[in-house]
Amino acid sequence: MTNQIPVVVSGAAGKMGLETVKAVHAAPNLKLLACIDPCFADGVHTQGDVDTFASIDELMAAGLVSPQETRTVFVDFTRPDVIEANLRQVLPLGFDCVVGTTGLSAETLCELESLVPADRCLFIAPNFAIGAVLMMELAQKVVAYMPDVEVIELHHDNKLDAPSGTAKRTAELLAAARTQALPDFRSTAPGTETELPGCAGARGANVDGVPVHSVRLPGYVAHQEVIFGGQGQTLTIRHDSIHRNSFMPGVVLACEQVGKHQGLIIGLENLM
Ligand code: NAP
Repeated sequence: MTNQIPVVVSGAAGKMGLETVKAVHAAPNLKLLACIDPCFADGVHTQGDVDTFASIDELMAAGLVSPQETRTVFVDFTRPDVIEANLRQVLPLGFDCVVGTTGLSAETLCELESLVPADRCLFIAPNFAIGAVLMMELAQKVVAYMPDVEVIELHHDNKLDAPSGTAKRTAELLAAARTQALPDFRSTAPGTETELPGCAGARGANVDGVPVHSVRLPGYVAHQEVIFGGQGQTLTIRHDSIHRNSFMPGVVLACEQVGKHQGLIIGLENLM
């Protein structure tokens, strides 16, 4: 097929990477060029005949991609402790980047934004599931009427960061929407003073004044509740990713769209 968008998947042997490889293979507008993961050091090949590399250095040395000439998408689902280094390496090379890896701080994002070439895009989605994006959108509407809110996120026990990127983003969006709708509402969550000695954290992490509670257990994939409390009532918005393929329509959409944009974009809602 002509005019397919070339895609490189980083973290291709991981849980999200494997799903991404399948999704890119299946997407008619995308062409999987290469996969990167440390486990490919021994030359193992993924599904089909896609070339695999242990590192970005090895990919570039092979001369397989030329992101300066042909807009090429670099999708990253790796680890919170390697994503910054990966982006520092690929952004100056001219890749458009689609990042699902969580854990980047606001300060790091600011620095990375300055590395995006003028005509390229760094797209980051804390959550690629359409339902999760809608949960965040709805929550921002509700908080204007029910400003007392807390977030509970539940993930598998191998997750490397807490709170989740989705929960942190949800809390930040809730706080901003609440301040805009109700400028005089308190900016700190009540209750940390009630934590028993030796039980610090019982009231959760304080993200911009919104308590966020993280549950880590085998059996979960990715789940989140946003709970609003009002007089004599509560309202809960809950989203469940029960399989990692829930993220793939969003990943494919981002790969298709990122080349039409420039600069740093955060959140799938900006591409929908
Ligand atoms: P995972 O199963 O641990 O997969 C990560 C893969 O990346 C592993 O195979 C890892 O290899 C590999 N890797 C490590 N360093 C690398 C490097 N420098 N270059 C290329 N690959 C490298 O983790 P996962 O569950 O797939 O999650 C990956 C990330 O996506 C996490 O940050 C997670 O929170 C996030 N996530 C985001 C969304 C979203 O919608 N945005 C959804 C789900 C998950 P080793 O095992 O050898 O280190």
